[in-house]
Amino acid sequence: MFKLFKTILKAGEPTVKYPFKPMDVAPGFRGKPHYDATQCIACAACTSVCPANALTMETDLASGERRWQLFLGRCIFCGRCEEICPTRAIVLSEEFELAVTRKADLYVKATFHLQECRVCHQPFTAKKSVDYTMALLAHSGLDADAVEALRPKFETCPDCKRRQNLQNNRDLRLSHDSGREHQ
Ligand code: SF4
Ligand code: SF4
Repeated sequence: MFKLFKTILKAGEPTVKYPFKPMDVAPGFRGKPHYDATQCIACAACTSVCPANALTMETDLASGERRWQLFLGRCIFCGRCEEICPTRAIVLSEEFELAVTRKADLYVKATFHLQECRVCHQPFTAKKSVDYTMALLAHSGLDADAVEALRPKFETCPDCKRRQNLQNNRDLRLSHDSGREHQ
């Protein structure tokens, strides 16, 4: 009996005092995704890789808004959103206590304004995506005036850009042909 007590004392305390003491998690633990809307550019990359469909994004052309949403009730803590996010707006935290008393508390939501095309006036992307692309150019060393001069291009939708390019090519060909006729 005495031997048994000695062994127990030697082994120490095998259990933890949780929830009376905080519980340490292992390095690399994947807990609740933490989302920072100020960092998010509403690019939708995370929503397209989320295997559990916990992340969704909807675009409302009528109100000119894009709505991002995370439903924690579906999240499987795989971390794919963190891997793909270009701005680290979503990262997995060490938080694992997710119980809530209202279902509404399992949602994380954010709303973004859409950028209207300068030509056709249709919303086509999030304003923040445009600002982010321009900020990247400035960061890469292009001077501020040159970046600002590119703004009309960034604020034109892909369809209108394609039409403008076709028109430019046509004009170029016509001026080239008329140049040859006058030789
Ligand atoms: S951790 Fe996985 S399941 Fe959860 S939101 Fe991110 S991609 Fe979706
Ligand atoms: S990938 Fe990142 S920046 Fe893009 S929508 Fe998701 S959280 Fe926002």
